[in-house]
Amino acid sequence: MRTIAIVGRPNVGKSALFNRLARKRISIVHDMPGVTRDRITAECTLGQHPFTIIDTGGIGSDADATFAEVVEMEVQIAIETSDAILFVVDGHDGLTPVDQTIAQRLRKISKPVILVVNKIDHPNHAPFDADFARLGFREMINVSAEHGHGIAQLVEMAEAHLPPPSPEGDDDENAPPIQIAIVGRPNVGKSSLVNAILEDNRTLVSPISGTTRDAIDIPYRRGNRSYTLIDTAGIRPRGKQENSVEVFSVIRSEKTIRRADLCVLVIDASMGVTAQDKKIAGLIQEAHKPCIIAVNKWDLIKEAKGFGTRKEQLAETLEAVRAELFFVDYAPIILLSALKSEGLSRLFRQIETVRQGAKKRISTGPLNRLIGEAMEHHPPPLKGGKRLKIMYATQPDRHDDNDALPTPSILFFVNRADLMVDAYRKYLENTIRKEMPWPGLPLRFLYRERGKRQAVEAE
Ligand code: GDP
Repeated sequence: MRTIAIVGRPNVGKSALFNRLARKRISIVHDMPGVTRDRITAECTLGQHPFTIIDTGGIGSDADATFAEVVEMEVQIAIETSDAILFVVDGHDGLTPVDQTIAQRLRKISKPVILVVNKIDHPNHAPFDADFARLGFREMINVSAEHGHGIAQLVEMAEAHLPPPSPEGDDDENAPPIQIAIVGRPNVGKSSLVNAILEDNRTLVSPISGTTRDAIDIPYRRGNRSYTLIDTAGIRPRGKQENSVEVFSVIRSEKTIRRADLCVLVIDASMGVTAQDKKIAGLIQEAHKPCIIAVNKWDLIKEAKGFGTRKEQLAETLEAVRAELFFVDYAPIILLSALKSEGLSRLFRQIETVRQGAKKRISTGPLNRLIGEAMEHHPPPLKGGKRLKIMYATQPDRHDDNDALPTPSILFFVNRADLMVDAYRKYLENTIRKEMPWPGLPLRFLYRERGKRQAVEAE
C-alpha cells in the first residue's frame, strides 16, 4: 500500500507536517459528515518513489465520541491502512499525559512506529529528548515541520518501511490461470459451450487434468492467456431419478462455484430466467464470486418470427435477464450461441476485462472525496434516531496474491455498522462503481466500528 499514517494529539503540528510532506499536492475532502478536517490523505513525492500519507488527526471526532474513542479510531485507521506510523509529539511543550496514552496504545501494535519530535527549530535545542526517548520507540527523529528541518531524513526513515512500488504492467503471460466454472441448470447448453470453446481454433487444449465426482478441470490456453475450465456438465448423475437431476445440479454447482475464480452462468435465451437459474445466481452472489452471465441459444431468438424485430427481441431478453437477476447486477451479460460457436471471443474478451479490472485500485483520496460528496448529496437515513457516520474509507490491500481474481473490498470506519441500511449501501456502491466500475466483480463492504478492534462484514 505504500502508506504512512500520522498520529498524535491535537496541536503538535500534524497538519504542518502533513503539508510539508505533501508539498502542494493535497487531496481535499469536502464537508464530509463526521470529518472535521478537510485534508486526510495526500501523495508524498519527496522520497525515491511516491507514497501516500494519511493525517488521522480528528477523524472520528464528533459530539457522540469520547476522546479515547477518537484516539482509538485514529490509531485503528493508522494500523490498518498504513505500513508505518509517524507518532508526532511537541518538542516545545514536552511530553503530556495524552502523548503517554497514545504511546501506550502504539507500543502494543506490530507496525513500525517512528517517534517524530516536532517544533525543534534549532537542532541544538531539544530540551525534552530524554523524556521522549524514554517512551521506548526504536526510531526517533527531531524535525521542524514549519522550517523543513529533518524532513528529508524523516522521509528516508519512513521509506525504509515501505514495500517496493508495484511494477507497472506486470506480464499477463505468467498470470495464474483463471479457474472458470461453467454453471447453470441442465440443458441450458453448458456441455455445448465447453465443447464449442475447446473446438474453437484459438484454443489450445491440454490433456484433461483433474476429474472429481463433481467436475472436470480442463486447462487450456487462448492467445497468451491460461485458463482452467471447470466443467460440471460432462458429469451426469448416475442411478438417480430424473427428477433429482435438478437438485443434483444445484449441489454440484455450489461446490464448483466455491472453488472457481469466476463463474460463467449460462442461461437459455429461449426459456428466459427460471427459478433454478436464480438459485444458482444466488449461490454465486453469496459466495462473492466474479460472474459473467452468458445468455446462450441466441440463435433461437434470431429465428423466431412475429415478435418484433430480432434486435428488439434481443434487447428485451437482455432486459428481462437483468431484471430477474438483479442481485448479481455486477455481472456483465453477453449473448452466445454455443451451437453456432458465436460469441466465444466476446466471452473471453469479457473475462479479460474482468481480470484487468481486478488489478485496479481506487485511491484513498478520491474514494473519500466521492463518499463525502455522496453523503452530502444524500445523507444516510436515520435508523432508530441515529445516523450512520463514515469517518474514512479505504480499499485494503489483498494479501492473497496468488488469487487469480482478487475481488475488491472497501473498508469503512464508521460509528456503527448496523446503521448502514441496504439501500444506502447500494447507493454508495453505485457511486463508487461510477468512478471504478469493476465489471464482473462483486464489491465487498467491510466495517470497522468506533471502539471495536475487529472489522465486520454486514451483508
Ligand atoms: P447442459 O445440460 O447445460 O450441458 O446442456 P447441453 O449442452 O447438453 O445442451 C442442451 C440442448 O441445448 C442440446 O440439445 C443442445 O444441442 C442445445 N443447445 C446448446 N447450445 C445451443 C445454442 O446455442 N443454440 C441452440 N439452438 N441450441 C443449443
